[in-house]
Amino acid sequence: MTSQKTRISFWQRLFDMVCPKACGVCGRRLGLNEEVLCGTCNLHLARTGHASHPTDNEMAKAFWGRISIEKAAALFHYQPQSQTARLIYNLKYHGHEDFGERMGEMTAREFDEKGFFEGIDGIIPVPLTKGRQRERGYNQSERIARGISHATGIPILDCIVVRKNFDGSQTDKHRWQRNENVENVFQLRPDQDISGKHLLVVDDIVTSGATVCACAKELQRAEDVRISVLSLGFTKT
Ligand SMILES: [Zn+2]
Repeated sequence: MTSQKTRISFWQRLFDMVCPKACGVCGRRLGLNEEVLCGTCNLHLARTGHASHPTDNEMAKAFWGRISIEKAAALFHYQPQSQTARLIYNLKYHGHEDFGERMGEMTAREFDEKGFFEGIDGIIPVPLTKGRQRERGYNQSERIARGISHATGIPILDCIVVRKNFDGSQTDKHRWQRNENVENVFQLRPDQDISGKHLLVVDDIVTSGATVCACAKELQRAEDVRISVLSLGFTKT
């Protein structure tokens, strides 16, 4: 056992020399015992504390009166101009697709201590359109979901809902409007039986909650589906 540990450690060290990992916020090289964030950035991350009271917090309240939810929690408060914005930028656009998985694992470990995942049957990453996924190479919500699944053993129920492509005539300058206009973009696949399940909808950032609401409403077309929500960041509007 000891020799195996030593060997893993040796390979880890070698890998770290060849391919050092950088902090997702400040870019500083990470130590071998640091994951995703350096100790300083981890300490200063503006955690929401939502997972301690997942049925009654500011993110849960953002959904009240719009969809029926069981629990909702984000790891940190997200401000577009803050340091954590870099983390999300890296997650989406910098080709650091492993950030999402590692952030998902970290979030899941923290939330699991609070019993957040009790009773949840499956994870639904909010899908991107095929076009957007092709452009980006991956779906960041799916990567976060993978990390959560690794840490908790809860399966990802992929391809339960699909996201319809936008009208090709819409351009980037209309992106904001386009994001808000999500009411009917999700479609539950008729061949998938999710009735009676408690599903965790996962997205990277929740701001207005419109995307999560639209996705959840489509899932709730199936009988007796309960919804909880997890995101990395939450922006209070
Ligand atoms: Zn850092």
